[in-house]
Amino acid sequence: MSISQSRSQSHTPSDHSRYDVVVLGSGPAGQRAAIASVKSGRRTLMIEKRSVVGGTCINTGTIPSKSFREAVVYLSGYREHAIYGESYAVKREITMDDLNARASYVMKCERDIIQAQAYRNGIDMLYGAASFVDPHTVMICLADDCGTRTISAQTIVIATGSEVAQVGDIEFDGEHILNSDSILTMSDIPRTLTVVGAGVIGIEYASMFAALGTRVTLVDARPDLLSFVDREIADELAHYLRSQWVTLRLGEELTSCAVLPDGHVKTTLASGKVIVTEKTLHAIGRNGATADLNLAAAGLEADKRGKLTVNEHYQTAVPHIYAVGDVVGFPALASTSMAQGRIAASHAAHVAFNPMPEVFPYGIYSVPEISMVGRTEEDLTHANVPYEVGKAYYRHVARGQIIGDSVGMLKLIFCPKTHKIYGVHIIGENASELVHTGQAVMALGGTVDYFVDAVVNYPTLSELYKIAAHNGLNRVAGASADGLADLPATKLAPVEKRETAAAEKQAVDTADTTEQHGAATPKEQGAVAATATHGMAPVEEHEGATAEEHGVPTADLVGAASGGRNGKKSR
Ligand SMILES: Cc1cc2nc3c(=O)[nH]c(=O)nc-3n(C[C@H](O)[C@H](O)[C@H](O)COP(=O)(O)OP(=O)(O)OC[C@H]3O[C@@H](n4cnc5c(N)ncnc54)[C@H](O)[C@@H]3O)c2cc1C
Repeated sequence: MSISQSRSQSHTPSDHSRYDVVVLGSGPAGQRAAIASVKSGRRTLMIEKRSVVGGTCINTGTIPSKSFREAVVYLSGYREHAIYGESYAVKREITMDDLNARASYVMKCERDIIQAQAYRNGIDMLYGAASFVDPHTVMICLADDCGTRTISAQTIVIATGSEVAQVGDIEFDGEHILNSDSILTMSDIPRTLTVVGAGVIGIEYASMFAALGTRVTLVDARPDLLSFVDREIADELAHYLRSQWVTLRLGEELTSCAVLPDGHVKTTLASGKVIVTEKTLHAIGRNGATADLNLAAAGLEADKRGKLTVNEHYQTAVPHIYAVGDVVGFPALASTSMAQGRIAASHAAHVAFNPMPEVFPYGIYSVPEISMVGRTEEDLTHANVPYEVGKAYYRHVARGQIIGDSVGMLKLIFCPKTHKIYGVHIIGENASELVHTGQAVMALGGTVDYFVDAVVNYPTLSELYKIAAHNGLNRVAGASADGLADLPATKLAPVEKRETAAAEKQAVDTADTTEQHGAATPKEQGAVAATATHGMAPVEEHEGATAEEHGVPTADLVGAASGGRNGKKSR
């Protein structure tokens, strides 16, 4: 559907200039706010500054980058390298056009869906830039020089998202020095690339280009990779990136970035290092998109990063004006933005709603993928909360071998007494899908015992949960048997079956295959639990968890970066 077609198919306001609800922005936050508003019977107008709906999410951020990743992984043959060798590729000479073709297709489909949803639900649409005239009125500079319109509303929802932050005096020229809005407009895949900012966006693009064979240098002033991610998982990622010839320059301050006469980009660090590459990507921050809203006319003020402050209902300091999505900052995810939009609209309409869940997942679409829900080892250690860990490796389950993922790992962190799950952390194929099983068990108050008892399809990656649960409970059992823990007997089914270490080992050897084929009898389950430790997933001592504070990603999704082990890891 072309832009003009999509615009003509949307409802446009006719002679009405008063609405119950006006939503500024058609990204995930705005869309959900608008839909929830009309569903509660309120006349709703959604205003969009761009010529198309969908916001950063559909047009420059989430969807293009994830579609690009899928094209990289497919065309480079990444998933097949472990089986068919490093030389395997679906296409030898991959171009940016090849990669962007997929993104364009998905973006078009997504816009069409959003447009159809707005139409079906009776949401009026206007294309133009909105700004406040007073707390109940906005003026819209209509697109295509079609003049202005003034609209008033009982409720106004600011869902204007975020925009790339300026970095000192660095000029993004869209050709040599790029940002996350312009990176995919490059005409050719660079042979060398410097990525400044090792947060989520920087790491995603660094790993994607590394998978394409680009020599990437990743620079960040922070000493650790992704400080909010479990250290062991972040270290695995660092280790894998190095194996892909990514050079990590962490704890390094940027001093300048300039285009050389031959078109290369020279990046200079405070330590004196100079990096010269074909292109440079700066992924170091996004500010709330509020500069053009004339907030003062509404009685509002944004902070120095353009962000608005809200309460738990997403009301700003002016109660009938709500703000949702990236414009309010953390966690600045498409997923949470949608939930915020729905909550704000429901609150404004006096419709009952569930508050924002305390626990929500993060997906980091690096190559390999990372996903997590809940607390990390470092966070728990810092809070003096005792915990136990159960791990399972993709290479130890049949599905992992079938798909050729020898990097992946799933880790459960749980309370050794109650078995309540504190966190699920995954690196590997489909991590961002797989995490939702753990999230559901956590949200419903389940324990790791659920995974021991559940029958899961075979062969699947879901078996990882089962193995990790056995592995973790076996560690608890070990601690209990050694008199190291005071645990309720009812929680220790696998422990009750433990006898001596020698008997356990013998049981493991016979049970090993049984568990792999999903045919463990109740009698065998105790032995299977031991298998996870001594047979399939070798026990590792907990790493000395640092008392690092649980970091939160900044609104721009830029985290921090850590070193990690040296050495090459085959995939
Ligand atoms: C490269 C990248 C990758 C990402 N990957 C992920 C991911 O994998 N998963 C994830 O959950 N999140 C991801 N994000 C974050 C995600 O895109 C945002 O959290 C999400 O888009 C925020 O939604 P929003 O509705 O608040 O804002 P946006 O999607 O930015 O939408 C805001 C809309 O408001 C419009 N607008 C602005 N000002 C005005 C005005 N004055 N009048 C009218 N309209 C206006 C804008 O044009 C825009 O269309 C990524 C972001 C980037 C940049």
